Parts: sequence; structure tokens; C-alpha cells
Amino acid sequence: MTQPTATGQQPTFRDLEFLVEVSQLLTLRDVAEVMDQVMQLTASAVGAMKASLFLHNGANVNWKYVFTVRKLEGADSVRVVSTVLDEGLAGWVVRKKQAAIVTDTETDERWHIFPDDKLVVRSAMCVPLMLDDEVIAVLTLVHPEPDHFNDYHLRLMTIIANQASVAIRNAQLFQSLQEQQDQLQAVLQSVPDVMLVLNEKDDIIHVNEGAASIIGAEHLAEARGMPLTYYAAQFDILDAVRESLDSRADDMAEINFEMRSMDLETDFAVTISGWEHRNTDRHGHVVLIHNITTLRNLYRFKDEMLRIVSHDLRSPLSIISGYADMVEYDIAPESVINEYTDAIKRSVTRMSNLLEDLLKVRQIDEKGLHLDSDTVMLDLVLPVAQGTTMLAFQKQQTVESDIKLDESVRGTVDTTLMRQAFENLASNAVKYTPEGGVIHLRAYEEDGHLCFEVQDNGIGIPQDSLPHLFESFYRVNPDRNTTISGAGLGLSLVKSIVERHRGQVWVTSEEGKGSQFGIRIPLK
Ligand code: ADP
Repeated sequence: MTQPTATGQQPTFRDLEFLVEVSQLLTLRDVAEVMDQVMQLTASAVGAMKASLFLHNGANVNWKYVFTVRKLEGADSVRVVSTVLDEGLAGWVVRKKQAAIVTDTETDERWHIFPDDKLVVRSAMCVPLMLDDEVIAVLTLVHPEPDHFNDYHLRLMTIIANQASVAIRNAQLFQSLQEQQDQLQAVLQSVPDVMLVLNEKDDIIHVNEGAASIIGAEHLAEARGMPLTYYAAQFDILDAVRESLDSRADDMAEINFEMRSMDLETDFAVTISGWEHRNTDRHGHVVLIHNITTLRNLYRFKDEMLRIVSHDLRSPLSIISGYADMVEYDIAPESVINEYTDAIKRSVTRMSNLLEDLLKVRQIDEKGLHLDSDTVMLDLVLPVAQGTTMLAFQKQQTVESDIKLDESVRGTVDTTLMRQAFENLASNAVKYTPEGGVIHLRAYEEDGHLCFEVQDNGIGIPQDSLPHLFESFYRVNPDRNTTISGAGLGLSLVKSIVERHRGQVWVTSEEGKGSQFGIRIPLK
């Protein structure tokens, strides 16, 4: 391969060999290696003394890689490349998108002479490597004698350049795929969750290091290729995954569940989603298993606190209230002490209400629904409207009810809880509307659903608070509420009740103008 050839007009056997060797560049995956080979092959094919190759990095005019037979280092390479591309032959070739031969470097203006260059160059040939009408690289070949390169060389180089462009682009694509894969791999490995990728036969085709927390670090290496059933037989959490996969109706639907693994004494949240390959019929599942033991422990702690608060505080409160009553009983009506006992009783009532709300949250969390399958919706809504009217009367507010329901509209609901939800919305409207305001209550049936709406012209809610309104203990800017008591539990109760009935709750509001809340629950 080191013998110079191709000086004649007819292709020699060696020229054909070069073409075969160039076509083999397509099998290389490393950009630097492709470029190295291109330079060696071309220099050899046309008997050049030296070849250099500048590769465009694609995005802009910075030429990122510079490969020359005589390796240039750092700043030197930047200086040479930018000069050659600005003023030299390579620049001319890039701009014109065409190859060029310099028969004598001393007379051709396109050749830039570096005064400090010890290499004697008298003739040169420069070829663009094109892809999609863009120059992706320029190849320059030089010789110490004038008039070395001819048209035949140029044609040969053009053919080689075409092949080399494809080989370089291939290697670039491969390299970028490899980079993406490495990044993905790094991301997957850094995820603390357990991740298993399964194929269509539920065999494990990928497992991350997080999986060590279930199957043990020593088994990670062998897990790939094993059927899920092998591990399902050993670990209850993976058995639950297998069972979900076996019982799935729709292969691609996402499955979510939580469970406590008795084997590992750990609580897990599991998400299983389908994957499929676009061009083949390959498919499978990705299983993500997240350790939620800390969260579960917090829930257990919260439940215990709620139990203590709701039960164990109630008795002392009723004792305080009882003694306050007794004190009142014993003192003269005009005594100032009456004010003190009133204050004590008001505080006790507020605390009792708060405890009542906490108890309800717990009950809803713990107990199932007591569904009444033939509830007359009118009977559910009317008492709420009447109760609201009484409540509003104390604030000189008007309640306008528009109840478009009759005896025939019936549904399956937990009447106690649903009335509670309606009452919470209605009492909030009274609470957050100044004296003299107007409250509209609407109830109607629509598409097999019961709709219940409450509209007020009260203080309204800022837009940025709306997304948080249904969270437990959330109160809009507590400052504005100093005169209106509450714990921020009412709406979270409403949401929890409505969701248990597979319904939706919504709100729209404009600060200073009023709010509208609505509930929509399926009747069946
Ligand atoms: P609470 O009324 O006990 O504070 P809720 O969960 O019922 O708790 O309501 C949460 C917050 O939403 C309230 O603090 C209040 O700021 C706001 N809010 C609820 N209903 C209305 C309404 N009709 N108008 C204005 N603000 C409301």
C-alpha cells in the first residue's frame, strides 16, 4: 500500500485495490480511525508526501477535528487550520465546493506559505468531502515537486472522497449513538430505584444496579437473560410483578400498585409500563420499583398522631367545657368572669371543630364507603340548601337555590359523606362572603351524573392558590383569614369524598369578585 501509483491515465490494478480498501472504511466505527485511514490511503494512492484532513463539526464553521499525517498540537493546529481555511487552498475548496489542483505553490495565490514551515511543498491537490451538498471535510495532499498531481489523480480522489464522506458520517452517527447509549446507561445506573426491562416473554433483558436491593449485588451480573419467574419464585415483590403481568388485560396499559414485601420488610411502589419497538414487533415491559418505606412509616406515624389527637384530646376538652359551664352557673350574670368563660368556650368549640375534621379525615381514610344504592338525590341536596339558608341568614346573606331534581333522580352514594361534601362547599361560601352577599346553589342531573354547584360573590381566591386548594391544611394566605377560623381541611375532605365516588370537584374564582365550586359524581 505504500507504493505510489496512479500516475497514468488508465486505472491500474492497484487503483482498484485502493477503491476496495476505501469501501472497507465503512466498517470502521471510530471517526479518528476513519480519518487516519483516509489520509494514509489517499496519500499512498496518488504518491503524495503528506495528507491532511480537516473535519467540520457540523454545527458551525468551527473545524473541530484536524488530522494530519504530521500531527499538529493544540494552538499550532488552530492557527494552521484557521489560516488555511481563511486564506489558503482549503478555504477556496470549501467556499467553491469543488476540488482544486495547485501545480506550483510558488505561483498559485491560493496556496498559503507558512514562513516557519520546514516542509518543502511545490504542488498540492485539495478535495472536498461532500454530504447532502455540504462540505463535511477537506482533504489536502501535497508533494515536494511542482506539477505532481494530474486530472486522473483528481478523479480518483473524487471517487475516494465520496466513499470517505459516507464512512465518516457513519462513524460519526455510530459515535453519537454510542454516546447517547452511554449517557442513558449512566442515568439508569444512577437511579436508586430498581429497574427491570423485560422482553415479550417476560425475560429480563436489562437490570440496573438498584436491583441489587432486591436480588442481591452478587446476582446482578447473571440476572440478564433470566426469566422473571425465576426471581418471582424467590421474592414476593417480584412475584407480585409477575402476577400483575399475567393478569393484565391490555399489554400496553400502565400498571401501578403498592405493596409491603414480607421477605424484605420493605414497602414498595411499583410502576409497570409497556415498551415496543417501532419497526419490529419486539415489545415488553419496564418495571420500576421504588422503596417507599420511609413514606409509609410517616403515614403510619400520621395515623397514630391523628388517633391520639382525635380521641385522647376530646375528653379533656369536654371536661374544660363542662367546668366553664359550671363556673358560669355559679357567678352573677353581670360578672366580668362571664367574658372569660365565653372566651374559654369559644376556643374549646374551635378546637372541637378541628378535632371533628381530623376525625373525619381519618374515618374517610380508614373506613370504606357505606353506599346506599337508591338514594334520592333531592333528599340529599334539599337539607343542604335549607341548612345553608339558615347559616347565611346570620350574615344577612341571600341564598338562591336552583334545584332541578325530582324523586326519579337516584344514585349510589354514601349519603353521610356526600352531604358532608356539599355542606363544606356551601358553608365555605357563607364563610368567605361578607355580610349581605349572595350565594347561588344549583343541583341538576347531566349525562348520568349529579352536578352540585355553589357560587358566591365573596372575597374570591388568588389564581396561584387554586392548584393547592384541595391539599390538607392549605389555607389561602393565612393573614387574610385571621378573622375566619378554619384548619384547611374542609376542601381536602370534599376532594377525598368525591374521588371515592369516582367523581370530580372543580373551582373557578376571581379574587375580590367571588368563587364557584362544583362537584360532579356518577349516579351509578
Ligand atoms: P378552611 O375553610 O377550614 O380554611 P378549606 O379546606 O375549606 O379550609 O378551604 C381552604 C381555603 O380555601 C380556605 O382557607 C379559604 O382561604 C379558601 N376558600 C375555600 N372556599 C372559599 C370560598 N368560597 N371563597 C373564598 N375562599 C375560599
